[in-house]
Amino acid sequence: MSRIEILGLTQQFKGHRAVDEVDLVIEDGDFVVLLGPSGCGKTTLLRMIAGLLEPTAGRIVIDGQDVTDLPSKKRNLAMVFQSYALYPHLSVAKNLAFPLAVLRMPKEERDTRVRDVAATLGLDKLLQRKPRELSGGQRQRVAVGRALVRQPSAYLMDEPLSNLDAKLRTATRQELSELHARLAATFVYVTHDQVEAMTMATKIVVLDAGRIEQAGTPEEIYHRPASVFVAGFVGAPPMNLVPAVAGSAAGVVTASASGMDARLWQGEVDERDVVIGVRPEHLRVADSATGALRVHGVVERIENLGSEQVLYLRAGDALLTARGDGLGGYRRGDAIVLGAALERIHLFDPETGRRLEWVSDSDELPAIEASVPIPA
Ligand code: ATP
Repeated sequence: MSRIEILGLTQQFKGHRAVDEVDLVIEDGDFVVLLGPSGCGKTTLLRMIAGLLEPTAGRIVIDGQDVTDLPSKKRNLAMVFQSYALYPHLSVAKNLAFPLAVLRMPKEERDTRVRDVAATLGLDKLLQRKPRELSGGQRQRVAVGRALVRQPSAYLMDEPLSNLDAKLRTATRQELSELHARLAATFVYVTHDQVEAMTMATKIVVLDAGRIEQAGTPEEIYHRPASVFVAGFVGAPPMNLVPAVAGSAAGVVTASASGMDARLWQGEVDERDVVIGVRPEHLRVADSATGALRVHGVVERIENLGSEQVLYLRAGDALLTARGDGLGGYRRGDAIVLGAALERIHLFDPETGRRLEWVSDSDELPAIEASVPIPA
């Protein structure tokens, strides 16, 4: 069990900052996912926490103890990597026992721990096999098991599922979530896969260019993305983001772009540029959904996924995406009117990329106007 505090952590590689003054608190029992595009600094941050890489600046505190200068093996953290790195010539049992042998643990205690971990991970029947006699998923479980036997205070995982096929990934994702619940331990998990992040994390930390863009629960990240970057990175297909102008007319705040109009809430604002964001799954055919947003477009392409359709439409200058199960009847070239409810509309500042809130309950988010939403 451990609480990990990261204070101003920085890693400077020859002239460029891979991790740039990151502050983060990982609570005891959290499943924190570090999420971001390739090269954003996830692995570098994890390696600094693990003690495999010395930070250029900043501190790491685990359970109140400053461990920044402690070597990796004294931090009582376990790492699970993308490549399983099992010893090919050793049996599963010996692979599992290996970290304990290194610690010179007595054989009897070692055997008990290996048995317990094998039972936890469903490896009991495979203990005598060699890694080459296992499937990819089983090998991955042995790799996790090797971390588990040490009973570390936290688990650090770097893309542990990326070598598995899609089906196995889903199953192993579920296993990891269950394992986390059972162990009630702290997990820090690196991935660029948003599905892994959304399904397993108690807290997602979205990184871009070495900095934290947003840290929050999966719901917060999805429903209230703090920036255009987060809005565009989390969600598939990504959120529609359209440059628009906000203003007010007859006491109602509006935002419009060519082919798109939003009547937002009661109040007055000075005219200003904004970016309107709306997720494809929140755009509905306008007859069946009244709402604050109206989009007038022309269908360009439809993808039928069976359970639902993805529709690409041109609205003014923007190419938008809508996703749902009520879009089947349209053809290329059809005119279409879509709507979205007020609470599904996001506004961002085009200069800073940061979210604009109309009901500002956070000091960090600039309020465009605090006022009461008008009924749809
Ligand atoms: P990926 O998802 O591709 O693994 P990441 O988010 O984990 O990416 P990092 O591996 O942390 O990214 O790398 C962050 C940045 O630091 C990248 O630009 C990378 O090229 C650079 N970098 C990483 N390790 C080193 C190193 N040892 N020396 C110099 N630059 C490095």
